[in-house]
Amino acid sequence: TLVLGIETSCDETAAAVVARGSDGAGRILSNVVLSQVAEHAAFGGVVPEIAARAHVEALDGVIRAALADAGVGLSDLDAVAATAGPGLIGGVLVGLTTAKAIAYAAGKPLVAVNHLEGHALTARLTDGIAFPYLLLLVSGGHTQIVRVDGVGAYVRLGTTIDDALGEAFDKTAKLLGLGYPGGPKVEAAAASGDPTRFALPRPMLGRPDPDFSFSGLKTAVRNEAAAAAPLDARAVADLCAAFQAAAADVVADRVAVALGRFRADAPGVVPTLVVAGGVAANAAIRARLAGLAAAEGVRLVVPPGVLCTDNGAMIAWAGAERLALGIADPLDVPARARWPLDSRSAPMVGRGR
Ligand code: ATP
Ligand code: MG
Ligand code: FE
Repeated sequence: TLVLGIETSCDETAAAVVARGSDGAGRILSNVVLSQVAEHAAFGGVVPEIAARAHVEALDGVIRAALADAGVGLSDLDAVAATAGPGLIGGVLVGLTTAKAIAYAAGKPLVAVNHLEGHALTARLTDGIAFPYLLLLVSGGHTQIVRVDGVGAYVRLGTTIDDALGEAFDKTAKLLGLGYPGGPKVEAAAASGDPTRFALPRPMLGRPDPDFSFSGLKTAVRNEAAAAAPLDARAVADLCAAFQAAAADVVADRVAVALGRFRADAPGVVPTLVVAGGVAANAAIRARLAGLAAAEGVRLVVPPGVLCTDNGAMIAWAGAERLALGIADPLDVPARARWPLDSRSAPMVGRGR
């Protein structure tokens, strides 16, 4: 099956064509991502109305490029998939409405994809891993640990009670004057920093449930920054290194707790740990999780960075996985600003085949 995937839920206008073989193997034929970073940089964050307008202007060209790169036409497709939520509703509407129009005009099924399901299933596209697995989803809007039992079957083991980790990276970058988007800038600055100069807290460390909290960590960075002002480049690097080290400690501790849960719930299954979402691009956090996985004797799968941040391939793939189970959506399926990953029931309820 050949699926066109469209992603417009945040500040990336993206489209891709992905193939799924009858054996379940995935192949990316094209993956076009147009970042709106330049449009939002002056505001220090994503401005929803600007994002929606930019998606309107760019999406046709991005879809054309994705089809051309893949060397396919609309008639070759088996389905059109688009992010239907969660995300900035204006942007989601642009992508979903475009997908509906293409599906209607070309006479192809529409698959409405949960953006988080796109992140969650990417490792099956890149590495072909089997269910169940343990997913650490760390992105700009979400920080969760989920047991992935199947397509549409997600059990949330833990979540952040305040900020997402990507959000904490972005806020740290902003308050240190590093600009937007913050994650890569904090990581770059941390590379030359001393993580021991500033003592930052490790929120939730040692708690029995695998939940997260990052707002206190961000506040601690703010307080340390104020106390050390004026900040020179050295101090900024040291603060970034301290923040990243604290984040990595917390993530490793929380995932270790979740691995224990997974083992208790699914005895006999050797867990695979999958990391997804934009923060999975962070090399320090990856390295920390690799150490944990080695110590715990579990396999670690982290898709390449371009497939961790928002992209169309993950949406096309989630669409292909749903289509393979006979799931498609009616053309009046709504866009949803909020849509928890574990809220959609098992795929057997899907319509059509
Ligand atoms: P969601 O998927 O929850 O709706 P989103 O789509 O905005 O949110 P992603 O695009 O998956 O999130 O990821 C973007 C986030 O990842 C941003 O917060 C960004 O700062 C963070 N990020 C990207 N690269 C890095 C990095 N190298 N280190 C740390 N964080 C990073
Ligand atoms: Mg983004
Ligand atoms: Fe995302």
